[in-house]
Amino acid sequence: MAEIVIKNLRKEFGSFTAVQSSSFKIEDGEFFMLLGPSGCGKTTTLRMIAGLELPTSGEIYIDGQEVGQKPASQRDIAFVFQMFALYPHMNVRKNISYPLVSQGMPKAQVKEKVAEVARILGIEDILNSSVSGLSGGDRQRVALGRAIVRDPKCFLMDEPLGALDAEFREHMAEELRALHDRMGATTVYVTHDQLEAMQMGDKIVVMNHGVIEQFGAPQDIYDKPATMFVADFIGSPPMNFLRFHESLDVGATTAHLHGEAVEIPALREAFDGDMVYGIRPEHIRLDDAAGYRGEVIATEYLGTTQIVTLSTSNGEVKARISSDQIAKVGDKVGLSFNGTTATLFDNQSGRAIR
Ligand code: ATP
Repeated sequence: MAEIVIKNLRKEFGSFTAVQSSSFKIEDGEFFMLLGPSGCGKTTTLRMIAGLELPTSGEIYIDGQEVGQKPASQRDIAFVFQMFALYPHMNVRKNISYPLVSQGMPKAQVKEKVAEVARILGIEDILNSSVSGLSGGDRQRVALGRAIVRDPKCFLMDEPLGALDAEFREHMAEELRALHDRMGATTVYVTHDQLEAMQMGDKIVVMNHGVIEQFGAPQDIYDKPATMFVADFIGSPPMNFLRFHESLDVGATTAHLHGEAVEIPALREAFDGDMVYGIRPEHIRLDDAAGYRGEVIATEYLGTTQIVTLSTSNGEVKARISSDQIAKVGDKVGLSFNGTTATLFDNQSGRAIR
């Protein structure tokens, strides 16, 4: 088990800064997600934790020991890549047992460990197969098997499910999480998939352009995004942004979107300027009595719910409503907002106004 503390971690490649002064703490046993779009610096961060890349500055503590400049071999961690290199000339059993055999573990114990790992991953029937003929999913399971079998105190995973098709990916995500809960090893997991991060993670760091936008539990990040980037990146469809200009006092609980009064969470700071009213699709209701109006321009049926796209004086708005409710293209409807769940942003900085 391992606690990992990152302090002012920075990585430059020549004149390009890939990671800018990051600080966060990964608790012992946590399933921790590094989330962000392509190129935001999440892999570089993970590689620094692994010891595959040396930080330009800053510190990495694993269980209180500063390891930032130490080689990977001294960190007792297992790295699972998306495209994990398996030994092509060995069968599945040999690939999985290799780390144990090279540690000098007795044969009977190796056999037992490999059998246990194969059972966990559901690959008992391919243990004697050659890895060259395996499907992508099975290759990935073997790769995971090889990482798990060592019982490291920490797993680092870089998009381990990225190469899998959607259905199997979901299954493996559940497997991985269940595996984690059984083994309890700290896991740091890189993904660009917000849904995967929300479903699997205990905590999430959201990165953008080498900068940490927010760090917290999935629900906090979803309910209280710190920036418009986070609000837009997390959630599908993402949060709606309605722009307006107003002078609001401390404690204000109402704002005016194009003249219509809407509820806002009570402000702790006064604000005067361009603002954005951020509201999640599920917090909008179609309500004929509401003064804020829109016209339905598209509907998307999703089973128990539907996404209704509306054209309003403030731009397009998406609402997630029950599929029982009738909404047809061309309908002119009122929209009411559950304003206590809204987030106000400063349109200049993109940061939430609390
Ligand atoms: P992806 O999901 O595409 O891998 P990422 O968020 O993991 O994205 P990184 O791989 O950490 O991003 O890369 C961050 C930035 O650093 C990118 O712009 C990348 O081109 C750059 N970068 C990464 N490694 C190097 C390197 N060895 N030399 C120069 N630039 C690099």
